Amino acid sequence: MPLTRQTPLTELPGVGPARAKKLEKLGLGTMGDLLDYLPQRYEDRRECCALRDAPADRPCCVSVLVAETPRISYVRRGLTLVKVKAVDGTAVVNITFFNQDYIREVLRAGESYVFYGTVERQGNLFAMTNPVFEREGAARFTGLIMPVYPLTAGISNNLLAGLTRRAVDECLDGLPEALPAQVRKNHQLCQTQYARKNIHYPADFEALSIARRRLVFEELFVLTCGLAQLKDRRSQGAGRVLPGEPEEFAALLPFSPTGAQRRAMDDIAADLQSGKAMNRLVQGDVGSGKTAVAAFGAWAAAKNGVQCALMAPTELLAEQHARTMEALLAPAGVRLALLTGSVKGKEKKALLAALAAGEIDLVVGTHALFSQGVEYRDLGLVIADEQHRFGVAQRAALAEKGGAAPPHVLVMSATPIPRTLALIIYGDLDVSVMDELPPGRTPVSTFAVGEGKRQRMYGFVRKQVQAGRQVYIVCPSVEESGDLPQWGELSAAPMDLKAVTTYARELQEKVFPDLRVGFVHGKLKSKEKEAVMSAFAVGGLDVLVSTTVIEVGVDVPNASLMIVENAERFGLSQLHQLRGRVGRGKHESFCVLVTSSRSETARERLKALCATNDGFQIAEEDLRLRGPGDFFGKRQHGLPQLKVADFAADMELLKEAREAAQELVAADPGLKRPAHRLLKKKVRELFEENGALFS
Ligand code: ADP
Ligand code: MG
Repeated sequence: MPLTRQTPLTELPGVGPARAKKLEKLGLGTMGDLLDYLPQRYEDRRECCALRDAPADRPCCVSVLVAETPRISYVRRGLTLVKVKAVDGTAVVNITFFNQDYIREVLRAGESYVFYGTVERQGNLFAMTNPVFEREGAARFTGLIMPVYPLTAGISNNLLAGLTRRAVDECLDGLPEALPAQVRKNHQLCQTQYARKNIHYPADFEALSIARRRLVFEELFVLTCGLAQLKDRRSQGAGRVLPGEPEEFAALLPFSPTGAQRRAMDDIAADLQSGKAMNRLVQGDVGSGKTAVAAFGAWAAAKNGVQCALMAPTELLAEQHARTMEALLAPAGVRLALLTGSVKGKEKKALLAALAAGEIDLVVGTHALFSQGVEYRDLGLVIADEQHRFGVAQRAALAEKGGAAPPHVLVMSATPIPRTLALIIYGDLDVSVMDELPPGRTPVSTFAVGEGKRQRMYGFVRKQVQAGRQVYIVCPSVEESGDLPQWGELSAAPMDLKAVTTYARELQEKVFPDLRVGFVHGKLKSKEKEAVMSAFAVGGLDVLVSTTVIEVGVDVPNASLMIVENAERFGLSQLHQLRGRVGRGKHESFCVLVTSSRSETARERLKALCATNDGFQIAEEDLRLRGPGDFFGKRQHGLPQLKVADFAADMELLKEAREAAQELVAADPGLKRPAHRLLKKKVRELFEENGALFS
């Protein structure tokens, strides 16, 4: 029977139930899956040399005759060697294999083989260690550019390569084309068959790059088609009309808004009156005053008798927002409640009842706001503050929540991500940029110091406190990483919570016995956290020792010094967020990054932070230094996983793909044309968790 893309791998010789299970682990069930399983890298095995001419610095193929029966020696427990001599017309080569006893049975004296590996020279002798080999004349994996696949235990690269070889040879016929012909033509993209064939078994590196370009484009095109559809879908959707005048709201503020704040509020006001559902991102660096802009939205919603939910990434921030909003909006008659994971029992029940009855206008909280059992009488506006995890998928799911019409959605972000990435992550949103800080701010002076400066630094803390200011000291702690938006993994094991607690106590007892030191971390009960934070906020504490729970959003304008311990363990953007906790008032402010790391990269990173206060620039630098893989940590952006495209390297292509996608979706919003059927299916698959949204 001929193989097709639907043929299960179990029907192939050499794939029994045990292997099939392992292949399943790699997501491989059918021949078609193999076509989609992409090599990680390639080995150029095309070069074939005489032994004497073999290059010393890179592997190549040599065609030789095995001159003797392989000899095995047991060197010690866990180490055996198989040695064999081979010859061609130019020289003799000694070949050694480590711990591959079976080779003794495989290599036969008097037969010719192709070996692929580096030919080393030892004086007049030639040697190879652990080369790959095949019988001459039956070569499958030498003399070509060899794909190297991601593997799992029990599945060798040769096995996989054998399978993909068959898939490429036998299952490419009639492979349907997902890219519309016009798009392929406009962007000079090769056909899907050519791309599949050459991504696995490239004819040469030019063919590989042509193949890869097409596959990257296709992936980004499918992604951006999905985003464009989402955006389109929602801008079609009727939205509640919620008129509100920024001027009128501004009278409630204790300051007069900056130009950027005014512009953002105008954008929002226009959206809320447009009759369509708002989907807006407000981007502004730390300290640009996004809270006031969010408050405007909440105010406008309440004024029109619909409810608003304001979601923050941590309980701490939710509590602070509740305080701020209460102060601003209660005088205007807005009824407010706080709903976090710590609100339980009777209290919670009463709150939920009030929410469902419409007795609450603004509810502030964490993601608990959208958990099961939370019902709104009329949810008209959702605001997500610093919620980097509030990605495409979550926003899309929300659109379902609002009953009659989808709620308006407003996302606030300090955008510690490069612009190009924001383009995709927030690709379905309209954007207001707040590129202006409130007046009277001086940039935070930043220093990176070693352990040697610790005593001087403590002296500086005292000086700040004597001047009436307050100080943060932040330590990394492993236990809380779960509830924070973290930009990448920490580079080393952070202190455990106990170590952090001990450090705080020692600071109080030994270093600052005369100062008021408080301590807060994610494991404290909400009430305790709240108590410490509000004590700090009203000036009842001089020094706040904390884990990264204060990373985003915390706002105490009197604080003027931020100290970060083990600074090398944080991402740059994360440090920038932390630094953003100071310099929020009129006082000259400082950030001290303490590190005992000697690593060159670590120092370079911290230096980058000392050199600039521009969040965008820092994000770009972060991306450059850490590479795109680390930048996001794992799937924190809520976007589908990409297989081929590289967020950093393929940016140019992303722009192309995005424009093409927007054009296509504008012409055929539902991707309903027959020519777009496969594309539509791919979009749905890529966003599989939200497949329903694209049906
Ligand atoms: P972020 O954009 O980081 O969320 P916030 O909204 O927390 O910034 O504002 C930072 C600080 O600046 C707060 O203390 C806030 O009260 C203050 N602030 C905001 N807007 C203005 C303004 N127009 N004039 C003066 N101070 C402002
Ligand atoms: Mg904020």
